[in-house]
Amino acid sequence: MTPAAECTQTRFPTVARIVATIGPSSDSPEMVRRLITLGVRVFRFNFSHGTFDEHAARLKVVREVAEDMDRPIAVMADLPGPKIRCGKVPDGGFDLLVGQEVVFTNDIEIAKLTEENGKPVAYFPTTYPQLTDEVDVGQRVLLNDGAVRMLVTAKETGQVRCTVTVGGVISSGKGINLPETNLTAPAVGEHDWEICQWAVANGFDFFAMSFVRRADEIIGLRQRLEGICAVDRDAAEQHGSRIPIIAKIEKPQAVANIQEIAEAADVIMVARGDLGVEMDIAQTPVSQKKIIEACKRAGTSVIVATQMLETMITASSPTRAEASDVANAVFDGADAVMLSGETAVGDHPDLVVDTMTRIIRAAEDRLAELPSRATPPKLFAEQKYRVAAIAHGAWHIAQDFGAELIVCWSQQGTSARFLSQNNFDVPIVAYSSDSRFTRRMALLGGVSPFRRDPPGGFSEFVKMVEKDLVESGWASPGSRIVILGGEPFGSPKSTSSVVAHVIR
Ligand code: PGA
Ligand code: MN
Repeated sequence: MTPAAECTQTRFPTVARIVATIGPSSDSPEMVRRLITLGVRVFRFNFSHGTFDEHAARLKVVREVAEDMDRPIAVMADLPGPKIRCGKVPDGGFDLLVGQEVVFTNDIEIAKLTEENGKPVAYFPTTYPQLTDEVDVGQRVLLNDGAVRMLVTAKETGQVRCTVTVGGVISSGKGINLPETNLTAPAVGEHDWEICQWAVANGFDFFAMSFVRRADEIIGLRQRLEGICAVDRDAAEQHGSRIPIIAKIEKPQAVANIQEIAEAADVIMVARGDLGVEMDIAQTPVSQKKIIEACKRAGTSVIVATQMLETMITASSPTRAEASDVANAVFDGADAVMLSGETAVGDHPDLVVDTMTRIIRAAEDRLAELPSRATPPKLFAEQKYRVAAIAHGAWHIAQDFGAELIVCWSQQGTSARFLSQNNFDVPIVAYSSDSRFTRRMALLGGVSPFRRDPPGGFSEFVKMVEKDLVESGWASPGSRIVILGGEPFGSPKSTSSVVAHVIR
């Protein structure tokens, strides 16, 4: 760590939030504490790797540290979804050459090399037996994040034959992407559902769905999750009615259906890793913009993910391009930016998070110099939501009043979400008595949550706010603020009033 990493939170937290993937490099209590101090709000648990026992141990660490720090830190269960992988390959893998024949087959347990007509042919098992039925001649098969590529040349029962177009080494478990194939694999397979049940029982705050294609897949998972809560009182108790679902956009079909998906999901993730494999890499920046724009129209939070500070897995500073990438995600209006291998398996997760926070801050300082724009999401304006209207109005009051920040009581996060979606230039402080909801606020850009017992009335709330803001150093006597609330405090859907206030 460089001394810069020792930065403390003397200023207001950044608007854009950091999601960090937890893994072997970052699962000690000391490291979790450092990452939270440096800016991490959400820990992502990647269920493509690791056992339930490993995840349970990490979960315990995050929950204990967050509790000790009294911080609303959320945990996300990222489901593998219909990700296809190569089966077992002998140690060292197979080095595939351009022009070589490769056969995917359901008949073998472990990959083998044979010779046919004097030429080497590699046979691979896969984790998806239907692959051999569902791909067609002429389609592309991409392995190992697109590093190795082939074209399907023939289809036989139980196997498909390909010719390598870009060579490389393939070892056990490497990912397979089939961008042109319409796979019938469900968005939430049997194994994903097992993970869901486990994650519900363990109180995860968010579910991320990989390889989403359509809105009905999200609605389907939501119904199944509500089903668990309906029969399991403990689970319902843990989660309230609705566990937020993050739709990972990593297939061209999902980009095509982005508006309906953004309206159905609670949060969207621009999952650039697989997206960059499944579509022309030249199109991924454009897709990122389109996805974020769709989220802005729908009022849905959006995370930009993958390779944001990739070289920092080993290097002590990012490339210029990576620094620009993080800043540009902020300029685009991302609610959060995500770290993957950088924090899960990298050499110095704390240095990475510190670097990311500093880039976000610099970008936000720049945004603060630009004219403010309170633009409510189109969908909210059309649907005539009461809370959305109040939030939008409060934004204009804050603007004309010159308020330094906006405070709301937001029992289930609705007011906080609407305020957040009006675009930032003033920080938002949101209160709830329910820690499930203060944790879920971790993915709302610009919102800093506080868990407090409900005040008895508006004047008591104002006193609570004055005390918290002055103590945290976020405001001082004379500071102008705008406060949203409604009686009875602590019950959902009670926001009804906006007050312009000067701190005493
Ligand atoms: P993954 O998702 O890391 O689970 O693959 C993110 C991505 O594909 O970008
Ligand atoms: Mn992915």
